[in-house]
Amino acid sequence: MPKLYSVHKTFWFPQQSPYFLLQKASVSPQDLYNPRFFLWDPECLVMGGIGCPKCSTKLHRHGHASRPRCVVGLNETFWIIGYRYYCSQCVNPVSGKKTVTFRSWDPTIIERLPVHLALEFPAQLSHRSGITLSAFHFMRSYFQNGMGAKQFSDGLRVQHLRKYDEHHLQYLHAVQSRQSISKWKGQTYAAFLPFEDQSPLGLHGFVPSSQWLRDIYHGFIEKHEKDFHQHTSMLSGEICALDHSHKVNPSINFLFNLYVSRSLKKS
Ligand SMILES: [Zn+2]
Repeated sequence: MPKLYSVHKTFWFPQQSPYFLLQKASVSPQDLYNPRFFLWDPECLVMGGIGCPKCSTKLHRHGHASRPRCVVGLNETFWIIGYRYYCSQCVNPVSGKKTVTFRSWDPTIIERLPVHLALEFPAQLSHRSGITLSAFHFMRSYFQNGMGAKQFSDGLRVQHLRKYDEHHLQYLHAVQSRQSISKWKGQTYAAFLPFEDQSPLGLHGFVPSSQWLRDIYHGFIEKHEKDFHQHTSMLSGEICALDHSHKVNPSINFLFNLYVSRSLKKS
């Protein structure tokens, strides 16, 4: 079991605060590129292991995922470090060999976990990246209150830039506070690079586009479609009063109104 789980009892790696990072003898803007890391290896936490999503054979850990997964939050980005789990029975349909592995953050793996463990997973993932659940649910509130994906994406961008500016300001003040000693030593400090700078020393700041946000929201809605239908079918017909037209056969009118009210609720 990772030490993080057995000793520290957390999924999050400890993280230094910017103030302490700025206490070093020599500081650079890169010292403040200090993302959080989340370690996701549920296999060692489930008594009896996790069954393969395809054949239910017990999976075995097979090294870590080749690269961490970037997840965008409300004002910062963090990374999930995952593992690969190997099934000793499943056969790869292309190569015909037993090389089938699942990443620990695959939805099919998370679905097989006890709910109180699965709820610790902090992100809604897309094909290559993801968004934190807090940001995702905040986005749902945006949509439910008449604001669109573009407005949410713009809002996220403002929050990320604000956090970045805060770090920039902190850096400048730290440099200013050591002005006299720096002068004496002839020490200079590097300038902060722009948020989206893609050079090796840049932050590579990133905020998802409105299209990406829309796609991930649609994915979530489609996944829960059956639940929405179930809920809609249990609603009372009160909203039928929306249409006051009495020109058509009342029973057809009733069915039409019911259809409209359900479509409205669904949308
Ligand atoms: Zn299998």
